[in-house]
Amino acid sequence: MSKSSDILYTCPHCQKRSRFVVWQSINVDLDPMLKKQVMDGSLFVFHCPSCGFSQEVGYSVLYHDQRNRYMIWWIPEDENGKQQYNVVELNQYARTLSGYRLRLVPSFNRLREKIYIFDCGLDDRAIEILKRYVWSAYLEDQGIQMSQVYFADSYQESEYPAIELAILTPGGNHRIIKASGKNGYPRAVELLKKNKVPNQEFTKWRTIDHTYWDLAERGEG
Ligand SMILES: [Zn+2]
Repeated sequence: MSKSSDILYTCPHCQKRSRFVVWQSINVDLDPMLKKQVMDGSLFVFHCPSCGFSQEVGYSVLYHDQRNRYMIWWIPEDENGKQQYNVVELNQYARTLSGYRLRLVPSFNRLREKIYIFDCGLDDRAIEILKRYVWSAYLEDQGIQMSQVYFADSYQESEYPAIELAILTPGGNHRIIKASGKNGYPRAVELLKKNKVPNQEFTKWRTIDHTYWDLAERGEG
């Protein structure tokens, strides 16, 4: 079941207070409409009924996909770049779920990225390794941060999956780069296998981001 509560939100433009629905958890099997609103971002936008002002509002929310057996907890970073959460509360969920992928993400864009990856039937750990390959081969020299590479799309091309990555350049532009063939995603999956990273994950909350490749290379992924 999805859970929400109403709060009174003060419009930063006209200072009037009005109702805003905040979701604590979203179950997309039971409430598929909510998934649509997550993906287009509308669930996290406040519209002021008095003056028409709109603003994005980020808050902690647990995204739950039962059918594909994963949960993603978006916990926005505070002003010091730290995620504040209650470990006991997180682990209460983990104990009751076996064979689930459990992920912590710091931003709305990362939440949406994880959903795209899992819905494409891909392993987000292999995607992070693939990003590293692409970054060091093509992007590092252009001054692009590894943390500014996002999964965008995937499709089958001949016998291998082609992966599209969205790059945010230092100038604030977006562009898409494609990684395909045997040396793309399959090579990243192979590295996980070679380093004996378990296929079946232990049920615990993890952050799988641009720092993950280092763990995987050491066989600790
Ligand atoms: Zn207003």
